[in-house]
Amino acid sequence: MKNFEFHNPTRIVFGAETVGRLDQLIPAQARVLILYGGASAEKTGTLAEVRQALGQRSVQEFGGIEPNPSYETLMRAVQLVRAEQLDFLLAVGGGSVIDGTKFVAAAALYDGEPWEIAEQGGANIKQALPIGTVLTLPATGSEMNSGAVVTRKATQAKLPFRNALLYPRFSVLDPSKTFTLPAKQIANGLVDAYVHTIEQYLTYPVQAHVQDRFAEGLLQTLIEIAPQAVATPDDYATRANLMWTATLALNGLIGAGVPQDWATHMIGHELTALYDIDHARTLALVLPALLDVQRDSKRAKLLQYAARVWDIRSGSEDERITAAIASTRNFFEGLGIPTRLSAYGLGQDAVEAVLRQLQAHGMTALGEHRDIDLARSRRILEAAL
Ligand code: NAP
Ligand code: FE
Repeated sequence: MKNFEFHNPTRIVFGAETVGRLDQLIPAQARVLILYGGASAEKTGTLAEVRQALGQRSVQEFGGIEPNPSYETLMRAVQLVRAEQLDFLLAVGGGSVIDGTKFVAAAALYDGEPWEIAEQGGANIKQALPIGTVLTLPATGSEMNSGAVVTRKATQAKLPFRNALLYPRFSVLDPSKTFTLPAKQIANGLVDAYVHTIEQYLTYPVQAHVQDRFAEGLLQTLIEIAPQAVATPDDYATRANLMWTATLALNGLIGAGVPQDWATHMIGHELTALYDIDHARTLALVLPALLDVQRDSKRAKLLQYAARVWDIRSGSEDERITAAIASTRNFFEGLGIPTRLSAYGLGQDAVEAVLRQLQAHGMTALGEHRDIDLARSRRILEAAL
């Protein structure tokens, strides 16, 4: 096991009818900004519940944060926070709203051009406003981690940043808030959480036995609950399991003390920036191809994954690895999520365009061994055609 520090300060308030707890979670004197996305928060009634829970507090609202939140939109929220001297940010939504809120929290207090925060991966954040979240979409883990991803539309740059100051103070997780999600977003959430787990599990082994078993438990849970989660929107028990699994997949627990990959995410971000493909759907395009190209450096772990997650125990090593990658692909495809670029009408031109973006963003040494250079990214993208 590698050396690590683990400290996750986010309070989770989990369960049905928990939005009312906001009254105790946010200081009475706070000047609150509620941030949300498009129409869903109003339509589902969640915003009304939030407003009611906040009672007599001074509250302003900023709606319109889009999926893959943009710097351009978020800077308007930064102006509002500064002009009105707001001091507590409450995100109501999915990963996009929460990530966007993290950017606003840091940018509002940043001395300089806030895009530098994204350019420097968050290392230059010295202070941030406190944030809380009401999660409406189980997928990203952003509700209990310190990372975020923002897009600058003008340059088609989608960049990640992180800083310990960005952990939410609390997150309210009410599984019944997911009942209104379209099936497509549930499928996306299952895949995002699955790939978060894989990025921290399917790396070279470091004798981290309990992290492996936690990760395998998360993967198996996602596989088990997937059909019911998609087919039965108001099945509370299934949605509760999905919500907590997605949070645990990226709250630091399974990643402590193990090598981490993240190449699938970095290549995926470029596909979203260029072609506006949903985040999780880009991961389904990249991951099976990446596992195939990286099968030698990931050999021992791929064999463990094959046996323990998919119960593949017979055949040669290479046959077992091939079968495990095929099972992964089938899992995504079974959720209606394509694993080939051609499904989006993308071909060799897209491969070249993604490679140019990776180069422009310095993504030239990816993966847990930093051995995914542009030549290897090319092999991965071509394997995904
Ligand atoms: P999202 O972009 O936040 O939301 C997708 C759609 O779901 C939106 O159109 C939204 O509609 C709708 N929606 C949300 N909650 C709903 C509800 N309860 N009922 C009906 N519709 C609802 O999706 P996401 O997958 O959670 O977030 C994706 C973003 O997170 C990407 O930018 C990705 O790069 C990032 N990400 C971050 C991390 C991290 O650790 N921070 C990790 C992985 C990915 P409205 O706009 O109308 O509300
Ligand atoms: Fe993700």
